Amino acid sequence: MLPDFRVRQRDYLLEIARALTEELELTPLLDRILGIAIEMLAGRAGLIALHAEPSWHVAASKNLSTPYHKHIEKLVAHISEGEESALVEIQEIMDAVQRLTLTASMGLLNGVGLPLMAHKKVIGVIFIFRNYAGVFSNNDRLLLRSFADQAAIAVVNAQLYTQISNEKKRSDALLDSAADGILILDSVHIIERCNATISRLLSVPLDHFIGKSHDEMIRWHTPPEGLSLEEAERGGWPLSPSAQLYVEGDLERPDQTPLPVGISYTPLLSPDGQVLNIIMTVRDNTRFRQADDLKSTFISIISHELKTPVALIKGYVATLRRDDARWEKQIVNDSLAVIEDETDHLTALIDDLLDASRLQTGGISLKRSDVNLTEILVHLVERYQIQSSKHEFVINMPEDFPILLIDEERIRQVISNLLSNAIKYSPDGKILISGQVKPDKVIVCIKDEGPGIAQDDLPHIFDRFYRASDTAKKTKGAGLGLFLARSIIEAHGGHIWVESKTDRGTRFCFSLPRSSASEN
Ligand code: ADP
Repeated sequence: MLPDFRVRQRDYLLEIARALTEELELTPLLDRILGIAIEMLAGRAGLIALHAEPSWHVAASKNLSTPYHKHIEKLVAHISEGEESALVEIQEIMDAVQRLTLTASMGLLNGVGLPLMAHKKVIGVIFIFRNYAGVFSNNDRLLLRSFADQAAIAVVNAQLYTQISNEKKRSDALLDSAADGILILDSVHIIERCNATISRLLSVPLDHFIGKSHDEMIRWHTPPEGLSLEEAERGGWPLSPSAQLYVEGDLERPDQTPLPVGISYTPLLSPDGQVLNIIMTVRDNTRFRQADDLKSTFISIISHELKTPVALIKGYVATLRRDDARWEKQIVNDSLAVIEDETDHLTALIDDLLDASRLQTGGISLKRSDVNLTEILVHLVERYQIQSSKHEFVINMPEDFPILLIDEERIRQVISNLLSNAIKYSPDGKILISGQVKPDKVIVCIKDEGPGIAQDDLPHIFDRFYRASDTAKKTKGAGLGLFLARSIIEAHGGHIWVESKTDRGTRFCFSLPRSSASEN
C-alpha cells in the first residue's frame, strides 16, 4: 500500500496525463499545468517561461503581483539576448529568479525551478514559489521532474496543434481567396475539401460537394477536349508528382447554361508513389470563350458583309468595262447607282467598325452644340420616306420640345440607325416617331409594326455584333448599330431601351438629359 502523499502525487501525475491528452489550446494548458504544480508542491505562486526561438517570454503566471511579474518578464527577455545555449540560459534564469525572489520577499519566499524538456530540447522553465521555511526535498524535485517531463510533452503538442491550426487557417484563407475553383480529392476521387469559388461557379451550395465523388459533381456537357481524369488514370496517370493533367470543356450547371472551364489536376503522391490526393483547379473560361466567339463573329461579318458589296462592285465594274459591249445610258446609270449604293454601304460599315474599335480603346468624345432635335427628325424622316413606299412615317413631337446641348452628328447617327432598322425589320406599316418632355429629360421613341424581337434576343440586341438569328439570315447587317447607339446615348448621360413582343411591333426609346450638367 502506498503512503497517502505518494497516492496524491500519483493522482497529480495522472491528472497531468489527462491534461496532456485533453487540452490542446496552449494558454489554458499552461494555466492548468501551473495550477497543478502549485497545488502539488503546496506553493503560493508560479510561472512558466517558454523558449520560442530566439527569445524567452513568460507564457503563464499565477498569483504574482503585477510589478513582480513585469520584473521577471524583463529579466527573462534580457537573458534571451545572450548567445549561450538554452540550458545555460535556463540556469541563469533560475538563479536570477531565485535571487530576485529572495530579495523581493526579504527571504520569506523560496522557489524551485525545472527546465521543461521535450525531445532532448529545452522548451521552457517552470517555477514554483512557496513561503514556508525549509528547502525543497529531493522527493519534491523528483516529483516536479516527472511532472515537468509530461508537461513539456503536452506543451509541445499544444504548440504543434497551434501551428497546425494556424496553417489550416492560412490554407483555408488561401483556398477561399482564390479566383479559381479548387477541389481536393482523395485517392478514389471523393471530394474532401473545396472552396467557395467552385460553389459560386457551379451554382451548387458548398456543403453539397463534401463526400461526393468527382463524377457526381463534375459533369461535362459535351465530351471535353483532352483526356478526362478517368481516361488519364486508365493510361497510367500520374507517373510523377509533376504530371499535371489539363482538360477543357463545358460543365453542366443546375438551371443554368453550361460553364466553359479549364481544369488542372495535380497529384499529391506518397514517398512510394501512391496517390494521396488530387488537387483540382477549375478556371472559368467564359471570358476567353466570349473573346473567341467575338473574334469568330468579327471574322464572319468581315468576310460576309464586306465581301458581298465588293463582289457586286467588282461585277458591275467588270461588266461595264467589257470591250466587246456597248451599254445603253440607262444601264450604265443603273449600274453606277448600284456601285454607289454598295460603296455607301461599305463606307458605313467601315465607319461603324472604326467607331466600335474606338469605343473599345477609350470611349467617344462629343462635340456638343445647341440642337433642334425635331428638325433633325423631320429631315431624316424625309430621307427615309423616299427609300420606302411601303412605310408610312408619322411624327408626333411636342411644340415645346427644348433645344438640347448635344453632339448633332452622333445623335443623327442614332436616329438614322433606329429609322433604318424600323424599315429593314418591318415589311410595311406605320412608323411612329414621338417625343415627350419631362422636367429633367426628353424622351424620343420610334415604333414600327414589324414582327418584333423574340424574348430570348431582347437582352442581347445592344451587344456588339449581336443579330437575332432569324433576321440575320434574311437581312444584311453587322450587329453594330444598336451597340453604337447605346454608347452614344450613354455618353450623353441618357438611356436607350426597347419594348417588343413577337408580332406586336418594336418600340425603341432613348432619353437625353435636358441640362448640360451631365456632360460626358
Ligand atoms: P444590324 O441591323 O446591323 O443587324 P443592329 O445593332 O442595328 O444591327 O441591330 C441588332 C439586331 O436587333 C438586328 O440584327 C435585329 O435582329 C434586331 N432589331 C433591331 N431593330 C429591330 C426592329 N425594329 N425590329 C426587329 N428587330 C430589330
